This record gives sequence, C-alpha cells and structure tokens, in this order.
Amino acid sequence: MINISFFQYQLLPRQALNAVTSVQPRSGALLRVKWSDGRCGYADLHPWPELGDISLQEQLTDLRRSKISTQVEQSIWLASQDAHLRSEKKSIFDMGANVPNNFLIADAGNFSRSEIEQLKEKKFTTVKLKVGRNLSAESKIVHQLADAGFKLRLDFNGVATWTTFENFFKQFSSRVLQQIDYVEDPFPYSTELWQRGQKIVPLALDRDEGLVNWESVDSLPFSHLILKPAITDVDKSVARAKKHGLKLTVTSYMDHPVGVLSALGVAISLNSKYPHLMNEAGCMTHSLYQFDPFQAELDAEGPLLLGSKGTGVGFDHLLEQLPWQSL
Ligand code: MG
Repeated sequence: MINISFFQYQLLPRQALNAVTSVQPRSGALLRVKWSDGRCGYADLHPWPELGDISLQEQLTDLRRSKISTQVEQSIWLASQDAHLRSEKKSIFDMGANVPNNFLIADAGNFSRSEIEQLKEKKFTTVKLKVGRNLSAESKIVHQLADAGFKLRLDFNGVATWTTFENFFKQFSSRVLQQIDYVEDPFPYSTELWQRGQKIVPLALDRDEGLVNWESVDSLPFSHLILKPAITDVDKSVARAKKHGLKLTVTSYMDHPVGVLSALGVAISLNSKYPHLMNEAGCMTHSLYQFDPFQAELDAEGPLLLGSKGTGVGFDHLLEQLPWQSL
C-alpha cells in the first residue's frame, strides 16, 4: 500500500519554451509517496497538455479514484527510486560519475552571439536548440555555433513539413551538417518521411514512441532515442535502444528542479551501467524558469549539475517543510 500527498506549484518561464507553447505560468505538482514499510520518496508531476499529456487536474482527480496515468506511474516509480536512496542515506550522485548535459537554447530569438564565448568558457561541448519558430534566426545560430566548434542537437517538436525541413538543411555545408549530433522530432513519426530525413541528417525520436513498430526487424529510421523518465518506462527504452542499436539521451521534462534531479539520477545510473549506450544528457533545464527556493539549491559547473545537498534527489529541508495535501 502507498500513501500519496501532493503540493501544487507554478513555474514562471523566462521565455517561450518550444515551438508550440507560450510564456504562461506552468502548473505541476510534487508528489510525496509513503510506503507501508516506512520508506518515503518524492517526485514531480509536470504535464504538458500542449504536447498531448493529460492535464494536471485530470491526473490528480483520476489518482483519487485509484486510476493511474502512465505519467503518474512514472512519478511513483521515480519516487520509489528516491525513497530507496533516502533509506540508504545516499544521493543520486552516489550512483556513479556525474554526467555532462547539453546547453539548451529554448528560444533562438533571445540568444545573442556574445553568449557563445561564455558557453566555451564554461566548457559546454553540445548545444540543443529548439527550432521551428524563426528558421532564418535559427539557421544563423546553427552556423555560429558550428563555427565555434559545438556539437548541435536541433528539436523541431514535430512542427516541420518535409519542404521546410529539406530547405532548412540544404543551406548548410557538409562541415556544418557533420556537427549536427541529431535532429529531434522533425515531423510527426512516419517511417517513409523519417527514412528520407535520416538520409540528410541523423534523427532522434522523442514524442512518438507509440507510433513505431518496435517489433520490426528492419533498421529504424532514426539513430537516437530520447528518454524522458518523467513519462517513459526506463527499462523499456533501454531494451529498445539495445535491440535496435540506438543511442539514448536522458532528458528532464522542462519541469520542477525535483524532476530535473530525478532525470539526472536516471542518467547517472544508466551511464554507469551502459556507458556505450548513453549520449550526453539534457537535464539542465531548471534555468528556463525564474528563480525559486528549489532552484537556489541547484548549482552548476559548466555542463555538470552539482545538485542539492541531501539524500535522494536532495532538497530535504525544503521538501519536509512544504504544506502537503492529501489526495
Ligand atoms: Mg523533444
């Protein structure tokens, strides 16, 4: 038996976060899960209804009726990982060597060339750029970052058409194309379109895992798989990546700092178990939001998140003091 309490929060974005959402406060809930053996763990629940998730209110209402969404199931699993570490007085950083993250540019319109030098100084090697809103500004940044020697990850969140995709990549020299690690979700998943896309640039699958024929014996039209522990079963993704020769990138869900460190914990643990399967992570998303007491406990040294003091995902005192509500 488990007992779940929640704390509802809002995060205030500093800028637009992808091609399909605007700058509105974002709601989510932290979950505190207690098991009958006395263990207690925490996790985040941060739905993106704009991207197809069930709304927060609906998921909480369902949970009261013991109906558990896939996303809540993942939150409970992450809370169980956290509880396990807390019961052993360990933190996520005790599970293996810390893993570097890509730097994220969520809005090309807010990025200035002068920041490139800072990224170099901070020793970032990979930059992820959300694209699809302003392709001419975005292509300029791609050129600048490639010239400066960065590896690039471009995420369309499924909004490109074949024509915009083809024209966008036509303008880059083979040298620039070689620096593109992968392009994430260019358009909604279709085997035929993705096969054509993968001939131009390596593709990464994020959102449409449900549309892929994973039983297929043929090679799949993408070479990287994005694993978001906030919404996806970790063991299933690892098995799929192994079976199809894909590389895995663990990312946070542009969520609360608790969610960020839950995802980083998965990245650290998988990286120590399967170093050859894993890409650099994408968990450094906390600074997309305005400062709050949780963010204040996070520290970073270039691409490394140094996390918060405490056990599990950390934040021990902050979490204890929250006004938890029972379901
Ligand atoms: Mg994505």
